[in-house]
Amino acid sequence: MKQVILTGDRPTGRLHVGHYVGSLKRRVDLQNSGKYDEIYIMVADAQALTDNAEHPEKVRQNIMQVALDYLACGIDPEKSTIFIQSMVPELTELTFYYMNLVTVARVQRNPTVKAEIKMRNFEASIPVGFFCYPISQAADITAFKATEVPVGEDQMPMIEQCKEIVHKFNSVYGETLVDPKIVLPDNEACLRLPGTDGKAKMSKSLGNCIYLSEDPADIKKKVMSMYTDPNHIRVEDPGQIEGNSVFTYLDAFSKPEYFEEFLPDYSGMDELKEHYTRGGLGDVKVKKFLNNVLQAELAPIRERRQMWEKRPQDVYDILKSGSEVARAKAAETLADVRRAMKIDYFENDNLFK
Ligand code: ATP
Ligand code: MG
Repeated sequence: MKQVILTGDRPTGRLHVGHYVGSLKRRVDLQNSGKYDEIYIMVADAQALTDNAEHPEKVRQNIMQVALDYLACGIDPEKSTIFIQSMVPELTELTFYYMNLVTVARVQRNPTVKAEIKMRNFEASIPVGFFCYPISQAADITAFKATEVPVGEDQMPMIEQCKEIVHKFNSVYGETLVDPKIVLPDNEACLRLPGTDGKAKMSKSLGNCIYLSEDPADIKKKVMSMYTDPNHIRVEDPGQIEGNSVFTYLDAFSKPEYFEEFLPDYSGMDELKEHYTRGGLGDVKVKKFLNNVLQAELAPIRERRQMWEKRPQDVYDILKSGSEVARAKAAETLADVRRAMKIDYFENDNLFK
């Protein structure tokens, strides 16, 4: 069986370091491993519209930004197909058929959707499209016959939902769809990177992000005002690591060579944490270290982004030709689906049969 990756992001803003550790970095590694036959990376504009119906302009503007972030991180258009979701209308048709295989109660149970409804204050006014986006995501994944989906932890319920649809479809209509596997980050700190405000998740919609395109002065400003342990007031006070975003970010980003370069007094994370917990290590020193680490990680990404920013026509062409490739693949799957459901009426006069 072909090894295929499908993953994507909503164009609701520029991508941030949460996306990077949660999914982007892994995609680039997988892309460069040479183990995959096909890799599809989707700018999920149709999904973004499910809770931004009144702001299509925002979604449109951010398509280019997300594409630039991909290229900046090392997604290589020669190896990966980058495309725009709504330019593949086959996905909408698949969604429509899959909707019949899922109950309202099942969608209501999805914990990520529940949390997002709360966060957006939708409660009594949930757009039907938003409510159904896990089903449309199943269409995205299966349209490309993806075997692996590298995403952050918040996407686990979506992959579960997708697998259920695959099983249901295959049992009702015969073996047609491919069962996908979720690929989570192997570093625990990267599963769900918290925001700079210490809130559960760094998210474009919460305004608690450090963006991949952030300039050095802003990175520093954001790091120096990050949430730490609110009870760690004086340097001598014992500090808490758990729930302390600065340490979570260090767990996600620091490498032994950064200690050698920026903080040679400490052998590594264990010693740094031990000192902080014991007391005598100030937040400012840890934040300065984190700032150095993030500056080192983000500088090459920012530089590559600036290079692509000067080539908007090339980025446009990458998205356009990627969308054509993606559409052809999705059309093949849709034909399989119609055949399995016996709704391919005009193929071989099937309507008569
Ligand atoms: P929005 O607020 O519009 O939903 P978002 O910041 O949650 O935006 P998405 O486009 O929904 O971003 O998510 C894209 C991918 O990045 C998903 O695979 C998701 O799991 C991952 N991701 C997003 N935020 C984080 C985070 N803070 N930590 C780890 N992974 C994340
Ligand atoms: Mg999200």
